[in-house]
Amino acid sequence: MQRTIGLIGGMSWESTVIYYKEINEIVRQRRGGLASADILLRSVDFGDIVALQKAGEWRQAAAYLARIARQLVDAGASCILICTNTMHVIADIVAAELSVPLIHIVDVTAAALLAAFVKRPLLLGTRYTMEQPFYCDRLRQRFGLSPVVPAEHERSRIHDVIFEELCCGTVSDHSRQEVIDIIARGRARGADALILGCTEIGLLIAPEHTQLPVFDSARLHARAAADFAEGCGWLMPPP
Ligand code: GLU
Repeated sequence: MQRTIGLIGGMSWESTVIYYKEINEIVRQRRGGLASADILLRSVDFGDIVALQKAGEWRQAAAYLARIARQLVDAGASCILICTNTMHVIADIVAAELSVPLIHIVDVTAAALLAAFVKRPLLLGTRYTMEQPFYCDRLRQRFGLSPVVPAEHERSRIHDVIFEELCCGTVSDHSRQEVIDIIARGRARGADALILGCTEIGLLIAPEHTQLPVFDSARLHARAAADFAEGCGWLMPPP
């Protein structure tokens, strides 16, 4: 029997689709036939979440996502994934309230980076992810990585592309070229890998767009969930 995966999605649903597809594809590849994943998905209204983000109401957002996580556990989830990098700003608060593991997107991504022997990943994500300490500090302190973040005007542009385009279902060639140029400048500054640290950026940037090895947080996170469900075990690294 597979374990049941609890997904908190909808942030945005454009990327939750990736999780749903990726987890099911991995399970089918492994088990064959008509096998599919055992998933409980709660998809929230992203408009409400963005309003809380803009207001800096992180405590309220934490309480809301923690309530949803508990509901998923009560319904039978054996693990919880928050299907967005940004909302991992409150992941530790949510995790502390749970009787099952919260599979943390930074830990999963960092484990893949370490396995590839890279040290200085360029981090692309929302401004919250690139600028608040929860992401880069965790990469540094728990995993000894030295993340590189884009310059201020570049962060602003990436943030807008995420919220005004990718989360609205728009994938623009012009924006893709802008982001490719930002990646090239990061590489020139010494980055040796690329973290797609926003679950929608994989809709815009693929491995063929850069010479850097690419680590797509959404796909890595989804794979960790499939591993956990199969009992291959996603082991949390030591604090
Ligand atoms: N999905 C995005 C992320 O991975 C951004 C949406 C959000 O603000 O949660 O950060």
